[in-house]
Amino acid sequence: MGRLLTPDAYIKSIFSISPEGLKKEGIKGLILDIDNTLVPTYTRDADIKVKTFVENLKKNGIKAAIVSNAKQERVEQFCRHLDIDYFYKALKPFKKGYLKAVESMGLEPRDVAIAGDQLFTDILGGNLLGMKTLLIKPIDRNEPFPIKIKRFFEKPFLVGKNYRDKY
Ligand SMILES: [Mg+2]
Repeated sequence: MGRLLTPDAYIKSIFSISPEGLKKEGIKGLILDIDNTLVPTYTRDADIKVKTFVENLKKNGIKAAIVSNAKQERVEQFCRHLDIDYFYKALKPFKKGYLKAVESMGLEPRDVAIAGDQLFTDILGGNLLGMKTLLIKPIDRNEPFPIKIKRFFEKPFLVGKNYRDKY
């Protein structure tokens, strides 16, 4: 179980991931979580930073998709001005949502990385499929109660980890 909860990298911010860094690891596609990975949980729209980040990935030959456990309205509104495939109510850590996204990219799971802020959903799901897993430090501590509980159980797995400034 420990191995399945261990990401390939701990990263301070999603925005420190570069297309060059991904390519160096052989990664051809990046699956993104929304809440507390790209924006705080209660931010409804993608901002210019997110837009620029996604555009830069695609411009540099990295495929991108959103896979979120949030419901349809939240994900649709967030992706409204992003030109990106998205999958809502994905039920991460189950494989289905990730597999649909990988398929839409025309890639194999081993060529795709997932980036997310939660060990028991994002990272576990990615590791179950043999994908590269990038754990992003949560943007903000203001989260719904069920997630606060998960944070408590994540803690022992995260002590003493060094988060990278750049990937
Ligand atoms: Mg999240």
